[in-house]
Amino acid sequence: MALIVQKYGGTSVGSPDRIKNLARRVARFKALGHQIVVVVSAMSGETNRLINLAKEIMPEPDPRELDVMVATGEQVTIGLTSMALMELGLKAKSYTGSQVRIVTDNAHTKARILSIDEDRIRTDLNAGYVVVVAGFQGVDENGNITTLGRGGSDTTGVALAAALKADECQIYTDVDGVYTTDPRVVPEARRLKSITFEEMLELASQGSKVLQIRSVEFAGKYKVKLRVLSSFEEDGEGTLITFEDPENKDSNMEQPIISGIAFNRDEAKIMVLGVPDKPGIAYQILGPVADAKIDVDMIIQNMGADGTTDFTFTVHKNDMTKALGILNQVQAHIGAREIRGDDKIAKVSIVGVGMRSHVGIASQMFRTLAEEGINIQMISTSEIKIAVVIDEKYMELAVRVLHKAFELEEA
Ligand code: ADP
Ligand code: ASP
Ligand code: MG
Repeated sequence: MALIVQKYGGTSVGSPDRIKNLARRVARFKALGHQIVVVVSAMSGETNRLINLAKEIMPEPDPRELDVMVATGEQVTIGLTSMALMELGLKAKSYTGSQVRIVTDNAHTKARILSIDEDRIRTDLNAGYVVVVAGFQGVDENGNITTLGRGGSDTTGVALAAALKADECQIYTDVDGVYTTDPRVVPEARRLKSITFEEMLELASQGSKVLQIRSVEFAGKYKVKLRVLSSFEEDGEGTLITFEDPENKDSNMEQPIISGIAFNRDEAKIMVLGVPDKPGIAYQILGPVADAKIDVDMIIQNMGADGTTDFTFTVHKNDMTKALGILNQVQAHIGAREIRGDDKIAKVSIVGVGMRSHVGIASQMFRTLAEEGINIQMISTSEIKIAVVIDEKYMELAVRVLHKAFELEEA
């Protein structure tokens, strides 16, 4: 007997038929003697619908109130899922995040889980229930409903698996595993049987939305056995996130150097041009941006011949106008010649632990892009990743040619 947490995404609970299908899968696992906790997202499109509804009333919705109403999407699906399980003769009980007591901080719309009170779930499991928990939501210490950021049901699933010391956390979605890149952009993309935790973390952080990054962080911290699977197939093996020593993986000659390619259209570039090159300038630019709780991703500083520097960084597109407003206020103080924003950019990243032991990967990437006439605007690297910022209109082309150049296609 195993304790398994199964998380189902929006498409997998997108209609009554799909919820019934989910219930049949759970029933099969129950029949094998397993204890099952089900985590569900809202029905596909529902979270977007709720956010747009809020914006019709308040263009910049109040975060606390937005969480109150956006969390209802998952409250609908937990009830429906429990009913579908009951219809199959199973004992089932649903809980919202606040009923379980998934306690988070109070950062509305992007809250972090602080603790989970798993006693109630365990009691129900021991009494033979399938426990159905709403993904994406929690409650802060003062009883306010919070949400965990888009895609946050993955994190609910993995965090529950960690708290319950589950044998496995299964993420059921609309693709049958983690691919070398998004199969919707590159149809030749190949499913990976396994991927190391480090690579998955980089792919998620670079924009591959198959798993929310915090869910991968949780899996790493608590060593949760995590698998991504299709909810439309009966017995696919999906993709296992492994914690094996990457050194061993390097020594495996068959292992490709690059495991995957991620991309992201969500960032905007901000250029602070012609700033005097003196100590403290980076702080004077980024300090006020950080004070406004705007996350900065890539940063580049170039020395000009005339003793001034150009300082460029990226933020989330939604934060561009705010960041520009802040910088315009301090422009005179920092002595910048000009401040510019560009939200027509995309970031494309290649990821692979094999990079550690192979040279020439960056030059191969840059050559491939050059051959297509794609200009690189910014570059950032880590031990297992090279990311470039390019014009957004070349993003899909860049992903396709890199996928081919690094021989990631289906054999
Ligand atoms: P869910 O609603 O089940 O959480 P998501 O839409 O959040 O599903 O994530 C699944 C989607 O992630 C897939 O439909 C696919 O388009 C996209 N995706 C992006 N990168 C990858 C990748 N490397 N492998 C598989 N899917 C990916
Ligand atoms: N329903 C939420 C969203 O659309 C959470 C999730 O699907 O994981 O972002
Ligand atoms: Mg998702």
